[in-house]
Amino acid sequence: MNYFECEYCLKKFVKEGFFKKHTCKEMLKHKLMRKPIGLQAYNHYSTWLKLKGIREYSVEQFIDSKLFKPFIEFSQFSTRMALPGKVHFISYMIEMDIHPKDWVNTMVYDHYIKNLDNIMSPEEQFDETVDTVMELSKIYECKPNHIFRYIEPSDLIRLIQAKKLSPWFLLNSKVFHNFVLTEMTREQKALLQQQIGPSKWAKRFESYPKKNEKFRQRVAEMNF
Ligand SMILES: [Zn+2]
Repeated sequence: MNYFECEYCLKKFVKEGFFKKHTCKEMLKHKLMRKPIGLQAYNHYSTWLKLKGIREYSVEQFIDSKLFKPFIEFSQFSTRMALPGKVHFISYMIEMDIHPKDWVNTMVYDHYIKNLDNIMSPEEQFDETVDTVMELSKIYECKPNHIFRYIEPSDLIRLIQAKKLSPWFLLNSKVFHNFVLTEMTREQKALLQQQIGPSKWAKRFESYPKKNEKFRQRVAEMNF
């Protein structure tokens, strides 16, 4: 007798109709692995193993592992929250001994964001900002230095809060200062001040004059 077999869970079907309608956990996992979110999850999993000094596992082993679900959830979370410095995050989680299933916890996220200035160097935060600028220019389909023509003030504040846009970059940008002056309401300016304490940052710039001069030049080169 002819039969049909699910290549993932090996369940057998005599009728083709039932076979075609069949879905199972294994099949869904394999489908996820063909999407960007699955590949991203596997990359994060591999980074985690490497940083822990454990040998790398194959995609098949990842799919079968208990960590498949936590890493898929982490990938979805990190995209949704626009998590800055993902490799730094993973290495910080190892340092703090936090299991991957807890990485999507809001308290863990808040703690990471709050401590980001100790975790990522000014240069790394600056580069993260340049990446964000490039991503935004793709979204708005405009030149990088034109993003302020399209961005909503509330989105800007959200990205600063999420540390995707750093004061090391923004405070050196004429375009940014101009945007704050002309596009933001008084309430929005107050929210912005909460995120970027101007006196705190003025002090920081004074403590690192050489570093900041380099950032100022890079921002100017980008016509910001
Ligand atoms: Zn199946």
